[in-house]
Amino acid sequence: MTKGYFGKVLWIDLSTESFKEEEISDEVYKQYLGGYGLGCKLISENMASNTDPLSENSILGFFPGLFTGTMAPLSGRYMVVGKSPLTGGWGDSNSGGTFGPEIKKCGYDGILIKGIANNPKFVIINEGEKEILDASDLWGLDIIETEEKLKQRYGKFIKTALIGQAGENLSLISGVANDKGRIAARSGLGAIMGSKNLKCLVLKGKKKIPIHNREDLIKYTQIYNEAASGEPGRILNYVLKKLPNMAKMVRRLNMDMAAPAGLTNKIYKKLGTCVGNTIAVETGDTPVKNWAGIGMYDYPFEKSKKLSANNIIKYKKKEYGCYSCPVRCGGILEVPELGLEETHQPEYETCAAFGAMLLNDDLDSIFIINELCNRAAIDTISTGCTISFAIECYENGILTKDDTNGLELNWGNSEAIIELVKKIINREGIGDILADGAKKASERIGKGSERYSMTSLGQEIAMHSPKAFESLAFSYAYDPTPGRHTTASVDFYDTGSVDDEKFIKGFKFPEGWKDDIHLKIKAQKLTSCITQVTNSLGLCMFTSLFGQYPVIEMIHAFTGWDINLEQLLKIGHRIQTLRQSFTLREGVKITENKLPNRTVGIPPDEKGPNEGISIEYEAFYKGYCEEMGWNPKNGYPLEETLKDLDLEFIIKDLY
Ligand code: SF4
Repeated sequence: MTKGYFGKVLWIDLSTESFKEEEISDEVYKQYLGGYGLGCKLISENMASNTDPLSENSILGFFPGLFTGTMAPLSGRYMVVGKSPLTGGWGDSNSGGTFGPEIKKCGYDGILIKGIANNPKFVIINEGEKEILDASDLWGLDIIETEEKLKQRYGKFIKTALIGQAGENLSLISGVANDKGRIAARSGLGAIMGSKNLKCLVLKGKKKIPIHNREDLIKYTQIYNEAASGEPGRILNYVLKKLPNMAKMVRRLNMDMAAPAGLTNKIYKKLGTCVGNTIAVETGDTPVKNWAGIGMYDYPFEKSKKLSANNIIKYKKKEYGCYSCPVRCGGILEVPELGLEETHQPEYETCAAFGAMLLNDDLDSIFIINELCNRAAIDTISTGCTISFAIECYENGILTKDDTNGLELNWGNSEAIIELVKKIINREGIGDILADGAKKASERIGKGSERYSMTSLGQEIAMHSPKAFESLAFSYAYDPTPGRHTTASVDFYDTGSVDDEKFIKGFKFPEGWKDDIHLKIKAQKLTSCITQVTNSLGLCMFTSLFGQYPVIEMIHAFTGWDINLEQLLKIGHRIQTLRQSFTLREGVKITENKLPNRTVGIPPDEKGPNEGISIEYEAFYKGYCEEMGWNPKNGYPLEETLKDLDLEFIIKDLY
C-alpha cells in the first residue's frame, strides 16, 4: 500500500462539469515529494505553452505538501499554482490556515481545475460526494460573507478556498483566500479563479493519510514541539516587550538580524511578523516612499513606532496559528473603535506596503485596509505598491485630481488611501486603471509614469530591500516567480538558523561563503534547492528560523524511504529547474529582466544605513546559472541537466 500519500489527484473540469481522478506513481512522488513540485509537473504536461492564463484551457492547482494534514509541526501550508496572469510565467502562491489539510482529508494530494463554468459556480467535495453548484447568490460577496453563508448551509466544519470581489473583477493582483483572511496572494492567481467563474472550493473530509511509521512521526513531532513551544519567561517577556522600541539601537549598533532559533520562535509567537515594523525601517530593510526614501529621515522612528508590534498586539483577542503549528505567529484582533470584532493581525508586509511605502503612520487605517484587502482577497503588497506608484504620479503632476475622482493622493493621506483601496477592489474610476498592478497602470497612464512602477516583470517587489540583503536583488530579478522575498535569497535565508546544520542535519553552506563570491553562489544553489523541498513538504518558510527540523527522519516516518540529503537537494534542483523551464517556455525573457534602479541603489543613498550601497546581481545570476546547469546567456536549463533531473518531457517545449 502507498505510504505517506494517497497517490492520486483530482481533476475538475468546469466546462463539462465532470470530475476525474488521476493516479500518480510512486516514482513521481520520489522525484517531487508531492506538493507544488508535483503541481508544476502536472500543469507543465497538461497545459500547452502560451495558453492565456485567463482562458478555458488554463489550469489552476491546489497542492498541499507531503507532510500537510498531519501532526508534523509547521506543515499546514498549501500552494495555489498556475500560469501567472500578472507576469506571464510560472505562478505559485502559498497560504496557511486549515484549507491545505482538508484537501488531504478528502483523499487527494492535489486538486486541479480546468475549463470555464457558464455562470458562477462553486465546487463542493463533502465526505466523498462531489458536486458543482450554482454560486449566483455568492457572487459579489466578500470572502467572509461567503464563508459564513456556506457554513450555514453545510455546517461549521467545512473549509473553503475562495475569491472575493477582486478575483471576480479579474484583478491581476488578486489572490485566493481561506480561513477568513489567509491569502495565497501573489502571482495574481485569484484572477484565474474569477475567469473560470469559480467562486469557491468547499471541502469536508475524514480520510486519514496512510503513514509508514506513526510512532516515529509522533516521536519526532513531540521532540520538535517540546523545543518549540513554551511561553517566554518573565525576563524574556520583558525583553520582547521592549524589542520593537529598540529599533534605533539595532540600527546604530548595526546588529545582525539573525537570532537564536529558540528566541526567534518566541519573538514570532509573541509579536508576529509585525515585529519588523519599526526595526526594519530603521535598518534600511523596509522600502520607504516608493523606494525613494530613507527610513530614518523620511519615516523616522517617531512615525514607524505608531505601527509597532506592541501597538498592534494590544488589540489581540486570541492567538492564531496555521494547522499543526506550535509557534502560532498570527493573531485575531478586536478593534472596537473601528467596529472590527474579529480581524486578522496585519503582517509585516502589509504594514510596510501601506505604512512606510506611503509615509502613512495612521495605524487605524492599516487595520481598515487589512480587513478590506482580506475580504476582497487582494494582495496587500501589490495594492500598497500600486498606490505608492499612484501617489508619486500625483505628486509629480502625471495624475491630477480629475484623474483620481477627486482624491488628493498625497503621501500619508490615509483617508485618500483607504478610498483608493476600495476603488481598486471594485474597479471604480481610477481604481480600474490601478487594479492590475503598477506596471499595467503605467502602460495605461503613459506620460513617463513607468519610472514610478517598482515592479519586476509585472510583479510588485516585496517589502525587503536588496540594499539590506543583497542577493534579494537576484531573486527579485530572476526567480521564475520574480519580485518575491520568499523565493530563496541566500542572504535573506541566512537571517535564520539554516546554515551550519541548525535547520537540517548535514545541511551547511561552504566555509567562508560570505567572503567569496564563488562560494556564495554555491550557497545560493543550496538555498534554492532546500527552499523547493521545504515548500513541497508543505512546511512554513519560517521553519528554517526555528531550529533543527528532522526533515529526513520525518520523510522516512511518512514514506519508509531511506532518502539522504543529497537526494533531497536533487529533488529541489529538479523542482526549481522545472519552475524555470515553465517561465521560459512561456516566452518570458528572464535574463533580460532589470530591476528598477531605486530598488538596487542606483544611484546609492548618500546617507543612512544603506549609504553608498549599489547591488550587482547580473554576474551573480550568471554564476548561479552555471552552478544549476543552466545556460548563463538565456537561463535555459541545458539538455543534459534536464535529462539528469528526469525532466525530458519539458525539452520539446524549450528546444
Ligand atoms: S509560523 Fe506562523 S505562518 Fe508559519 S505555520 Fe506557524 S502560524 Fe503559520
